[in-house]
Amino acid sequence: MRNLITGGAGFIGSHLAEALIGRGDDVFILDDLSTGSVENIRHLKKYDRFHHVFDSIMNKHLLAEMVDECDVVYHLAAAVGVRLIVESPVRTIETNVHGTQFVLDAASKKKKLVFAASTSEVYGKSDKVPFHEDADLVLGPTSKGRWSYAASKALDEFLALSYWKEKKQPVVIARLFNTVGPRQTGRYGMVLPNFVRQALDGEPITVFGTGQQSRCFCDVRDSVQAIMRLVATEKAIGEVVNIGNTHEITIEGLAHLVKQRTNSSSPITYVPYDQAYEPGFEDMPRRVPALGKLERLTGFLPAIPLNDIVDGVIHYFQDKKSAGKRDSVTTDGAVPVGRMVAGSTAS
Ligand code: UDP
Repeated sequence: MRNLITGGAGFIGSHLAEALIGRGDDVFILDDLSTGSVENIRHLKKYDRFHHVFDSIMNKHLLAEMVDECDVVYHLAAAVGVRLIVESPVRTIETNVHGTQFVLDAASKKKKLVFAASTSEVYGKSDKVPFHEDADLVLGPTSKGRWSYAASKALDEFLALSYWKEKKQPVVIARLFNTVGPRQTGRYGMVLPNFVRQALDGEPITVFGTGQQSRCFCDVRDSVQAIMRLVATEKAIGEVVNIGNTHEITIEGLAHLVKQRTNSSSPITYVPYDQAYEPGFEDMPRRVPALGKLERLTGFLPAIPLNDIVDGVIHYFQDKKSAGKRDSVTTDGAVPVGRMVAGSTAS
């Protein structure tokens, strides 16, 4: 099987690439390195079956060429991370909406299956937990930047479902809930890598708001399993499916857990949302996935426990720290944007 992953040098994309390579497939990734990194895929470059191109999905001709090469497209390229969304709303909307349109358009020429990654953000501030796929979406006003992300991903879903209904273009849509694991960066605001880095560096662990808001964290390896199973399931075509873990923890609880598992003496501090993000920022109090549909379709449920997830992230940051001390130069594999790199020969 030949797979194209847009956003393949990103956190989830690189884990998906690894799993597909692991089962003997060919993998092509297209990534503009805006939030992804060469580091994430360095270990895959030794495989002849791995091919990477550092360019934008907005490059329609290149995208069409790569879609033609493949049997299935995993569309993961998107502007992600609450901080990025608040700071760069134009980029968020354009990347998410136009990018998905280009991918669907290219795939529909030869009816290549598209997996479209959506997000639990689309449920917005609904309080009807657990969130079922057919529930109403409750978004805030357009004056609050955060909601542009949810709206742009909801539009992606509408677009993908419309391509299926109108053009019989096969699509599978997954709403990914908080996904965590090694290689996730805290740079774009994600909580777990931030807390772990702060705890390891002895810095204050910054809990935003009261810390009573809760989330369910899913290990990226579980998410990748779920994605691969959905793509292999005929009945998932034309469907929207939640992917996540149902174990819920408050953000304050997470801060304590990270502090305990790192043996850190970092203090836990509370930062008002206005300071952390922007004035008037709205957060979701709870976010829990309903996973019945995922289980019915695939027979699979994410199960990696939170303690193991947190330990995995801690080890990743510890390794990164010690590798940084040994070798501070990390330019390996940096390829100019726009150059096609086939057959994993770049380095
Ligand atoms: N958060 C926090 N400290 C941080 C980063 C995030 O307390 O350094 C909070 C954030 O306000 C939210 C939760 O952790 O309530 C999860 O944030 P993240 O950005 O990881 O994902 P979200 O669920 O908001 O998409």
